[in-house]
Parts: sequence; C-alpha cells; structure tokens
Amino acid sequence: MNIRFYNARILQMNGSVEVIEGELWVKDNKIAYIGAGKASNEKWDKEIDCEKNLLMPGFKDVHTHSGMTAFRSLADDLNLQEWLNDMIFPREAVMSGEDVYWMTKLAILEYLTTGVTLIADMYLTPETIHDACAEMGMRCELISGLNKFGPTLEVMENRFIELNKKSDLVGFKMGLHAEYTCDRELLEKASELIHKYKAPVYVHMSETETEVKECFDRYGKSPVALFDELGLWDFGGSIYHGVWCDDADMEILKKRNISVISNPGSNTKLASGIAPISKYLEKGIIVGLGTDGPSSNNCLDMFREMFLVTGLAKLKERDPKAVAADEVLKMACVNGALSLDHEDCSCLEEGKLADIIMIDLRQPNMQPILNIPKNIVYSGSKINIKMTMIDGKILYMNGEFIGVDADEIYRKCEEITERLKDI
Ligand SMILES: [Zn+2]
Repeated sequence: MNIRFYNARILQMNGSVEVIEGELWVKDNKIAYIGAGKASNEKWDKEIDCEKNLLMPGFKDVHTHSGMTAFRSLADDLNLQEWLNDMIFPREAVMSGEDVYWMTKLAILEYLTTGVTLIADMYLTPETIHDACAEMGMRCELISGLNKFGPTLEVMENRFIELNKKSDLVGFKMGLHAEYTCDRELLEKASELIHKYKAPVYVHMSETETEVKECFDRYGKSPVALFDELGLWDFGGSIYHGVWCDDADMEILKKRNISVISNPGSNTKLASGIAPISKYLEKGIIVGLGTDGPSSNNCLDMFREMFLVTGLAKLKERDPKAVAADEVLKMACVNGALSLDHEDCSCLEEGKLADIIMIDLRQPNMQPILNIPKNIVYSGSKINIKMTMIDGKILYMNGEFIGVDADEIYRKCEEITERLKDI
C-alpha cells in the first residue's frame, strides 16, 4: 500500500528530538519520503490528513512474556519466588501451544493500543507466538528461555534455524531464562552453541538482590561476571532488569556491548529495586525498555514504563535532572531496536521500515504544545495513540483494530483463563 501522510508534525528520533512539519510517504513497507512535500505522480491508496498530529517511530517493548496475559491479576502482592514457584510455574505446566497463541493475540491488541511496533517475547511455545504475531502483523523477536527444566539446547538450535526463516516480521534469538534456572553444564553448552552461530544472548539478570547473592554463593562472582567468564557475552546481547549490577558488572556490560533492558513497572510491583539507569547512561551502556509480562506489571503500557524509568531514576539519585525526557524517548523508540540489531526500524528515515505511530495532540493532556517530547513522557498516555502502523500496515486507528476480530480473541482468552485459574 502507498500511503501519504500530510499536514503532520514529525519526530524522526534520528539523533535529535527536533519536530518538523510536513509529509511522510509510505511505499509498501518502507518510508519513502519525509519532508515539506513535493510534486509526485504517485498513485496513493490512501491520503491521510494528520491535522498537525505527530508521527513518530513506534515504541519497542523489548522484554515481555505476552502469553502471561493468562495470569493478569491472578497472582499479585507476592514476592518474586512465591509468585513464580507457587502461582505461575504450575499453570504454565498445563498451558498448551494454542493457549499461548490466543493469549499472545490478546497481548498484541494491547501493544497496538500503546503504540508498540516491535516486541521481544520470551515465552513458551515460540512456534505459536510466531503464528500469532505473523497473522496479526506484529513485528517480534522470539527469545528462547533456555533453562534446566524446559526444552533442550537441541530444541533451541532447531528453533533458531527454523523460526528465522518463516516470516520477515518475526525472528528468533537465543536466550536463557536466567542464571539461577540453569546449571553450569548447561551454561557451558549454551556458550558452545552461541559461538557456533556467533549469536547474541538475552537473559533475565540481576533482577533481585537475592539472585545476585546466590550466584556469588554458587560461583564466587556475579551473574554478569559468570557469563563473561563462560564466553556468553562474546557476541553481544541484553540483560533484562539489571537492577543490581555493580561498577564491575557495568564495566563488563560496556566492554561486551551488552544492553540493559529496564522493566521499571515490574521492578516496582515486585519491589525488586530501582535500576541504576543514570550510571548505565554515564558509562555509555545502551538502555532499552520493556514491560515484562502482564502478570508482574500488570499492563503492557509503554507510557507507564517511560514515566517510571525517569521518575524512579530521579528518586534514586535525588536529582530531578536524572534521565531527562529526551533520553527516555530514545530508550523507548531507538535503543530497543538497537538491542535487537533492528536498525531498520529504529527511527523515521527514508528507507527504514514503516513502523510508525501517530500521537493525538488534540487532547487536553497534550496541550499546550510547548515541548512535544516532554508532553509524551511526562503527561502522555495510551489514549493519545491515534494510529499504530507496522511494516506499512495500519493495524490500529482511532480506537479501532483493523482486520482483526477482537471479540473472538476476548472470547477465546476467557475460556482459557477460566480453565487455568483454579489449578
Ligand atoms: Zn521477564
């Protein structure tokens, strides 16, 4: 489809937060032109008057567990280990691939309403997550959650090969659930595999103080240092959470080009602590944002994550200048893409993938328009998402999902959650 957006404000996020006025043209799945407008013989399938609303790159939710929508509001106000061991694991043990498929579709509806155009999803049955995303048009990197209780390394390798060739929208990356759910032998074998493919590694790490302490008890070093010793960082990757990294860990992260994906909503609700975001930024470590799963957050709302990541940093540092709004927007739009080697959708530029959102500026919480990036981070909310486009396709517009039967998804998900809730 060829679509011309005109009468727009445009925030490209390509190195600055300058807002320009003009037009943006989409041809098929790519951005063909951004500028003041020019003559064209193009046959447009659609011409959209933006009414001076804002076009900007979509948000990247680069750590989530979409299928955990099944457990939203089922297990709250518990500590991480109680929540995981007593409430989540027994239910996940009986979840089918089809259950994950429908619960992922429910999550995708929510991503669209909050302007998310790329997710990194670590959950059970990546095959059915793949299908849910491909069918609904959601860009996704599937992340394996290798651990000593689940599918083997051979399964991960096979998925890496097979799921990377099925769809342009969905990829698969190697990941481990966490240090504490893998033994040393499995970590060593995983390292051999990532060397075979020169693959980056994604893993929950340094989420709680207890997790780090227990790793010291087991190995005499932090999880970050252990992974470094085992060569697991040799091709980059990301750690999820990174709440309890010390200076030595940060040196390793910087040296190995490991990004930190912060999950401030989940860390707040589970009282895991406040990540040292200012320090990461000072050291030049790339920081992206994720919601984590909807059972520990409990919503998939990038506006809340953006406000929390700066608000908590300001509280931690007792400094209102900490982690300014421009930096937060960069985390939410650009850095998340970089953490997954997705430079192709990191910002709005000619030739980049058309993963675009429109922010409704004609709402009270966006007025006056003195500083748009600050409005988005400090007063914005998902009600301001007027449009979500992924890969050149408009999937959500003016509160409506396009080309998807949301009621069918709600109905299927209700059946699943009824079955799982009393286990
Ligand atoms: Zn997680």
